[in-house]
Amino acid sequence: MIAYSAMIVTMEYEDCVLCPNECHVDRRKATGVCRQYDRTRIAWAGLHRGEEPPITGKNGSGMIFFTGCPLHCQYCQNRQISGSDGENYGIEISDDELVSIMLSLQDIGAATLNLVTGTHFIPAIIRALDAARERGFSLPVVWNSSGYESLHGLSLIDPYVDIYLVDCKTLDKGTAGRFCRTPRYASVIIPVLDFIKAHHPYTDLDAMKGTLLRHLVFPGEIEATKEVLRAYAERYKDAFFLSLMTQFVPPLGDADLPCLTDAEYDGLVDLLEELGIDDGFMQDPSDDDVLWIPDFTKDIPFPLSFADPDPVFLSLKRR
Ligand code: SF4
Repeated sequence: MIAYSAMIVTMEYEDCVLCPNECHVDRRKATGVCRQYDRTRIAWAGLHRGEEPPITGKNGSGMIFFTGCPLHCQYCQNRQISGSDGENYGIEISDDELVSIMLSLQDIGAATLNLVTGTHFIPAIIRALDAARERGFSLPVVWNSSGYESLHGLSLIDPYVDIYLVDCKTLDKGTAGRFCRTPRYASVIIPVLDFIKAHHPYTDLDAMKGTLLRHLVFPGEIEATKEVLRAYAERYKDAFFLSLMTQFVPPLGDADLPCLTDAEYDGLVDLLEELGIDDGFMQDPSDDDVLWIPDFTKDIPFPLSFADPDPVFLSLKRR
């Protein structure tokens, strides 16, 4: 039965509509917008302590960063691996290696398995999760996503997901065009969040179930953030937790982008109170000495306070 379902899901690569780009390419021979063939590629895997506390747990979240992305945001913080600027850093791994990484993350005490931007590798991830579970894998699975998903792709991966860590970058087409490089993001995200809410109608982070919705405040786009917060309060606050992030860092050092002012930050805190949004997390603006942009050309791409010095993926490469 497992082999049969693995075969069916693998056929998804042959006429790929795994994400909203609907490229209809045969990824055995060609790539679409995500710039990835059907061979799984990852950039890093290991324990990471910089995620929201319930996902990080005591030892860290067991993260796997997949190479490539269906979205190519203007200011992508993972641009070295996402392909946003043509860089495409990562190493091809087999299904067996992906299974080994999942099991190793469990063995070293990860609180969760955190799959970062895995949309374009959903078939391989499903195959690996099925095989890992056969071998005793039982960590809660976090689907760490930009929110730029197709309902088709989500329906494939959803049965495997315990927690969605999903962005709502914007609901505004202009903002989406400027920051996500596609206005379509704004029309895709609400159906995605509605799907998630329908399948995961409540959040209990002690039980590792539910949804953490992330929103990063874009510089100069405070009205777009308020629109997101109002929609969140109206549609999702009873089902999700909110994670509001204020540490936007332009990787190319774009000096023209305005910083979030203290008055704007205080205004957001007031708006959260006015909207009755009290379940969630908010980034501390005083954390401005934290290096939020990873460098995937290094063995440890993150600040050492965030990442385990002996990542699983390096161990795997050494073998
Ligand atoms: S995953 Fe998305 S971007 Fe990649 S080939 Fe499939 S439809 Fe295109």
